[in-house]
Amino acid sequence: MRIDPTKDALIVVDLQPDFMPGGPLAVSEGDRIAVPIGRLARRFSTVVATQDWHPEGHVSFARQGGPWPIHCLAGSRGAAVHGDLPDTLVTSYLRKGTRKDVDSYSAFCDDAGLATGLGGYLKERGVARLFVVGLARDYCVRATALDGAAAGFEVLVVDDLTRPVDPASRARVDGDFAAGQVALVDSAALS
Ligand SMILES: [Zn+2]
Repeated sequence: MRIDPTKDALIVVDLQPDFMPGGPLAVSEGDRIAVPIGRLARRFSTVVATQDWHPEGHVSFARQGGPWPIHCLAGSRGAAVHGDLPDTLVTSYLRKGTRKDVDSYSAFCDDAGLATGLGGYLKERGVARLFVVGLARDYCVRATALDGAAAGFEVLVVDDLTRPVDPASRARVDGDFAAGQVALVDSAALS
């Protein structure tokens, strides 16, 4: 499968230190995908890097009754984009989960349904096809890929450049991808 820089975009989901081994919300082997994502990004002219970016007391934190430990506090080092995806390769950054009372797994809209503007941004750039990589496969990658397809983009998840929070999620998430017209591809198949 050939990458077409004029109509393809790479969406790098939450490649952030807080999701790497050693971080508060560590995804197993999350660090293993950083170098190859940086390498892949060089082949795209549109690269969007999303960042989980939460205020103190965010609704997703366990202390507030949410499912997650404190992670990706806005402006913290753990919320920065991983250094293996340098600034020079990123066309646009998208910060999500910035409102205290609403979480946002998807890069296209938050959990209350408010659009982030990503869909319009990509369409204005002539993007028709999205390659989605990053963390975590069963949460933000899943939601972003499904919403991208629902927004009319052709969406491929580059499977070997994602990692899940829960390894047992694979069959369920694969079913969601199939139902949502999201395809899976391996990075080795991209040229
Ligand atoms: Zn979060």
